[in-house]
Amino acid sequence: MAPRLRPGSVMAEAASFRIAVVDDDPAIRRLVRLFLKRSGYETVEFATGEEARAQLGKIDWDLAILDRRLPDMDGVVLCQELKSNPEFKSRYVIMLTGEDEQEDKVRGLDLGADDYVTKPFQYPELLARIRAGKRIVDLQKELMETNKRLELLSITDGLTKLYNHRHFQDELARAFEESARYERPLSLAIVDLDFFKKINDTYGHAVGDEVLKAVSRMFQDSIRSTDLAARYGGEEFAMMMPETESEDAITFAEKIRTLVESASIQTQAGSIALTVSIGVATVPHSKIHSAKELIVSADKALYRAKRNGRNQVQADKRLEGVSRSSRPPAAAPTN
Ligand code: GH3
Ligand code: MG
Ligand code: MG
Repeated sequence: MAPRLRPGSVMAEAASFRIAVVDDDPAIRRLVRLFLKRSGYETVEFATGEEARAQLGKIDWDLAILDRRLPDMDGVVLCQELKSNPEFKSRYVIMLTGEDEQEDKVRGLDLGADDYVTKPFQYPELLARIRAGKRIVDLQKELMETNKRLELLSITDGLTKLYNHRHFQDELARAFEESARYERPLSLAIVDLDFFKKINDTYGHAVGDEVLKAVSRMFQDSIRSTDLAARYGGEEFAMMMPETESEDAITFAEKIRTLVESASIQTQAGSIALTVSIGVATVPHSKIHSAKELIVSADKALYRAKRNGRNQVQADKRLEGVSRSSRPPAAAPTN
C-alpha cells in the first residue's frame, strides 16, 4: 500500500541549503566550491551530465548551477529534464552560458532554467543570484510545508487525532477497489462505545472527551501499520484492515473489545470503566459489491451486537463470530 500521511507526523525540512555544481572544468568547480563554502553553502560537484543525472535523483539538493556546455550532453537538456520532474518542482536551476550564446539563454529559460549567468562571470554576481534563488526555494519549501500541514489537518479529527470520517470513506473506497481488482481480502470493523451518553451525563462532556481520546489511542496503538483507524462519528470508530480475512478480523476485534473492557481509563473524574460493541464485515463476499455495502454489513453486525446485549463482537451473518465477556457492560467509576 502507498505510504500515507499519519496524523502528528509532519516532517521538518532540512535546514541546510545544498548546491549542485555541474561543470566539466575542474578549475571552475574548485573556485565555485571555495566561494560558496565561504558563504556558508554546502556543495556537491559533478563533472558530466550523466553523473549529475544519475546522482541528483538520489541526493538532496536545492539549487543547481549547470554548465551549458557539458562534454557528454547539452546542459539545457539536463535542465529541462530536471525541471520537468515533479519531484524537483521546488528546486532552482542557474545555467552557465558563454557570452555568444544569446539564443541559448532564451532557450534555457524557456526550457525551465530559473536564471542564467554569463561566463566569464563575477563571483559577487553569482552569489547574488544564488541568494535570489535561495529566497525563492525557501519560500517554496515553506509553502509545501504549509500545504502538508493543511492536508493533514483536513484529514484528521481534531479531538482524537485519528483520521476523520471523510478520509476514511476515501481510503475505504480505494482499498475496496484494490481488494476487488486483485481479489484480496479486506475487513472493516465498526466500534461503538456502549452507553457513552451515560458517561457524559454522569461526569460531563469534558470527561467524555477524555475517554474518546483515550480509546482512540488504544485503537491507534493496536492496529498494524497497513490498517487505518478513524473516528467515524461522535463515539463511533472505524478500522479498515486490508489483507485480513474474516477470522483474523474477528480475532482482532475481540482483542480490542477485551482491551477496552480490561482498561480503566484515567480521567479528571477518576478511572472510568467502559465497554465497546463491534461489528465486523469482510470481502470478498457474494452480497457485497461496494464500499458502501461493506459499511452497511459491518453496521448491521454492530446493531446485532448492541441488540444482543453490547460488549461483544458480531460479524457478518455468514460467519457469525460471537464472543461475550462475563462482565456486564458498565459505565461506572471503579475507584
Ligand atoms: P449505545 O450503547 O446504544 O451506543 O448507547 P450510547 O449512549 O453510547 O449511544 P447514544 O447514541 O445514545 O449516545 C452517544 C453519545 O455520544 C451522545 C453524544 O452526546 C455523545 N458524543 C458524541 N460526540 C461526542 C464528543 O465529541 N464528545 C463527547 N463528550 N460526547 C460525544
Ligand atoms: Mg454508543
Ligand atoms: Mg453511536
